Amino acid sequence: MNSKSPFEAGQTYRMTHQRQVILDEIRKVKTHPTADEVYEMVRKRLPRISLGTVYRNLEILSARGLIQRIGPASQQMRFDGDTKDHYHLRCVSCGRVEDAPMISVGDLEGAVRNRSDYSIMGHRLEFVGICPACKRDRGLHGDKL
Ligand SMILES: [Zn+2]
Ligand SMILES: [Zn+2]
Repeated sequence: MNSKSPFEAGQTYRMTHQRQVILDEIRKVKTHPTADEVYEMVRKRLPRISLGTVYRNLEILSARGLIQRIGPASQQMRFDGDTKDHYHLRCVSCGRVEDAPMISVGDLEGAVRNRSDYSIMGHRLEFVGICPACKRDRGLHGDKL
């Protein structure tokens, strides 16, 4: 628990203007944008910013816990300005990610902590399915797949 991220080691932290704009844009939306989408959003305010700068700042912001990375490594990483514990819904068809409309279910971390030697720092829970828009497109009806 006392490991420092490489970004903090020996480097005084300062929120650059670019980084603040990136953080503002991510916090503004509930869409859990990918890095490419963040770049498109930020470019409207900072037309000269590069994609590499956006990637680098996303790494720094998530290393500092100011945003949350979500999604398995096999898919494009998405970012969330909401760092409170909450759950996600992911559409397997279009890839959209939304906050699941529920509060946390009991003490999941405590249950795992009791059964393992890990120091648990948090957890991620994701529900996968087909979003309403994709269901409409496919002509699927009903709640079950
Ligand atoms: Zn969808
Ligand atoms: Zn979220």
